[in-house]
Amino acid sequence: MNPPPINQRLAANRFILDEAECHITVNQPLARASGTADRLIACCPAKVYSWAPDGSLAVEYAACLECGTCLAVADPGTLEWHYPRGGFGVHFREG
Ligand code: SF4
Repeated sequence: MNPPPINQRLAANRFILDEAECHITVNQPLARASGTADRLIACCPAKVYSWAPDGSLAVEYAACLECGTCLAVADPGTLEWHYPRGGFGVHFREG
């Protein structure tokens, strides 16, 4: 039996948003100047990062899958990331 497609499996996840604390902080000027912002947009599988209409880097942290890819592509000093506080964040329902 084949597993369901990835989009169906991801849709089964549940996200509990921590509205009091964002677990991602971007140094906006440094991230733009270093190219980190473009890499974050290109590499995040959850599309957490995008360019806002005002030219800043928008961070929609509620959709974070906690995969760590952004830490691998960010230059030093451009990104602070930690797991959401206990009970918050993604709750995987499939594998
Ligand atoms: S941990 Fe993964 S899903 Fe979350 S912001 Fe970073 S790259 Fe995106």
